[in-house]
Amino acid sequence: MTDKSHPSSGADQHHHHDKDDTEFTEHDWRRFLASLGENPDRAGLRETPVRVRKAWKHWVSGYGQDPTEILKVFEDGAERYNELIVVRGIPVYSHCEHHLAPFFGTATIGYVPEGKIVGLSKLTRLVECFARRLQVQERLTSQVAETLMQELQPKAVGVVIRCRHLCMESRGIRTPGEETITSAMLGELQTNLGMRAELLALGREK
Ligand SMILES: [Zn+2]
Repeated sequence: MTDKSHPSSGADQHHHHDKDDTEFTEHDWRRFLASLGENPDRAGLRETPVRVRKAWKHWVSGYGQDPTEILKVFEDGAERYNELIVVRGIPVYSHCEHHLAPFFGTATIGYVPEGKIVGLSKLTRLVECFARRLQVQERLTSQVAETLMQELQPKAVGVVIRCRHLCMESRGIRTPGEETITSAMLGELQTNLGMRAELLALGREK
């Protein structure tokens, strides 16, 4: 095992460890399975540590992505467009940071452009970039809104996210199928109550 993620100057404090502290290996997943009272060697579980490690790599791949890079190239041509552009049904798959349980649903993004517009694929990638991290839904919502505000500099941006949280549903804290709805409104959407109500209604609507 290597220590390559640590700066060499800090080598001293790591001399008791023969591996990186932050590395969670297949052996650790085996221990996790054993701690549940399972036999990690039975046929159905033998490949589970490898699969889980790969799956988690995907579920938190957003840490390695730069949201400003995703939005760097934009389409011009909206100079005179002064209306709310709304994109609905953007998929959201994330994990809550309190229980490491999935929460999932959809996002609705609305903005009033000022020259710069973005396509659906970029909005989807932006949501993924923040969703593929450990999250709370409120922070995910505001991170998407704030990044769009910063990069597109629109007149207004609003994000509405609705998700089912398995940590709450499975433990009976929520009615099955019940969604948590969060929203973040920036720019003119903070003061234009009509536009705000319109976006919220579109975001909540099935
Ligand atoms: Zn949770």
